[in-house]
Amino acid sequence: MSDLSGLYQELILDHSRRRNGEGELVDAHASHHELNPTCGDEITLGLRLDASGEKIEAIGWTGDGCSISMASASALTDLAVGADLADVRRMIDAFREMMRSKGEGDPDEELLGDAIAFHGVSKYVMRVKCAMLAWVALEADVAAATSRDA
Ligand code: ZN
Repeated sequence: MSDLSGLYQELILDHSRRRNGEGELVDAHASHHELNPTCGDEITLGLRLDASGEKIEAIGWTGDGCSISMASASALTDLAVGADLADVRRMIDAFREMMRSKGEGDPDEELLGDAIAFHGVSKYVMRVKCAMLAWVALEADVAAATSRDA
């Protein structure tokens, strides 16, 4: 991936080492397992809401896979913990749109934070699922955690 800008490549590498949020979450309101068979990445991502039920209090995940999938889970944890569910849904939509862009477009850096680093990855069709893995799991968790009150 030589044409990723150096800064973004550094960010991804940094997150793949830090793996923010790694570890099983106790008292999770929802937990979802997601597998990317093309690459062999997998993740189980748990979510806990705060007392209001409208904010993410904690995320914890366990998994194994390529550095892109692990870095994406780490960047997602940074962004989503402490965020309102409405904002989290916007982040998930914006991330998915960015990953479908094939490197085009102008993703919202304010909304996506470090996850903007994956914009360049969207040019590599085989790696899009790696980057999406944790986000798909989060989306399933948000749906499961909120449908209980409906
Ligand atoms: Zn992968």
